[in-house]
Amino acid sequence: STQPHVTFHDGRSIPQIGLGVWQTPNDVAVTAVDAALKAGYRHIDTAAVYQNEEGVGQGIAKSGVARGDIFLTTKVWNDDQGFDETLRAMDASLKRLGTDYVDLYLIHWPSAYRGKYVETWKALIRLKEEGKARSIGVSNFEGTYIDDLADATGILPVINQVQLHPRFQQRKLRAAYEPKKIITESWSPLGQGTLLADPAISAIAQRHGKSPAQVIIRWHIEEGLVVIPKSVTPSRIVENFDVFDFSLSAEDKAAINGLDSADGRIGSDPVTAQF
Ligand code: NAD
Repeated sequence: STQPHVTFHDGRSIPQIGLGVWQTPNDVAVTAVDAALKAGYRHIDTAAVYQNEEGVGQGIAKSGVARGDIFLTTKVWNDDQGFDETLRAMDASLKRLGTDYVDLYLIHWPSAYRGKYVETWKALIRLKEEGKARSIGVSNFEGTYIDDLADATGILPVINQVQLHPRFQQRKLRAAYEPKKIITESWSPLGQGTLLADPAISAIAQRHGKSPAQVIIRWHIEEGLVVIPKSVTPSRIVENFDVFDFSLSAEDKAAINGLDSADGRIGSDPVTAQF
């Protein structure tokens, strides 16, 4: 398909829009994943802790889209950090997903207080060598944790999936890791829906004849980010992918960039989180 991709430093690439399936029970995940693949998505973002890997696997099967045409991400949960634990967690995820590899395996959170993310990273390197993960990356690695991985192994993650939306744009993190060719991926790209009523976003949406969700997703795309909006509603799943027939003006971008706020984070700060 002709949808935009971004290229990793390991030579692989990822479709820029994926479907996020957090807080989606297995039965709902089946229909959401099937609807997304039928709408043209080729990228699904799940995690062991979402407890819906079976549903995601069933949705892929139901869609009839070939596994090889789909970019599938899952993540190792904090409780499973450690070298052997992570190898076992991956096997369990693959079994639930009904596949023998994922396109991207992420460390879900640094969980720094456990002190295990370097050992966990070494397991991901092994899993890549074994072909069970085509690419390996991290999530919520704010602060300097990525530097610890590089110091210990010489191998950098291809991507860092972090909270990122117009009210929390992560400019500092992006500037630090762009020279190292680490792609940034936006979780809660719509601010969990809280940004959809923002007047600045609504005004831009009206001017383009698009929805607020489409304007925000388009902004992530034009920023070169990977974006994984969540919806379980088929009409919204279609809407969130229908963002390739317009572009933002310089004024639109300036208005959205102006929404960035130091206290725009929703939920836990990964550097201080105790889970
Ligand atoms: P989101 O920002 O994608 O917002 C989703 C919510 O916005 C939906 O539940 C719905 O209420 C609303 N919405 C979506 N499309 C809409 C539309 N077209 N019109 C109106 N309302 C719409 O929130 P999210 O689920 O938190 O984040 C997306 C994905 O990011 C998750 O599903 C998950 O895959 C990933 N994620 C990862 C982490 C992590 O720690 N790595 C944390 C949170 C989320």
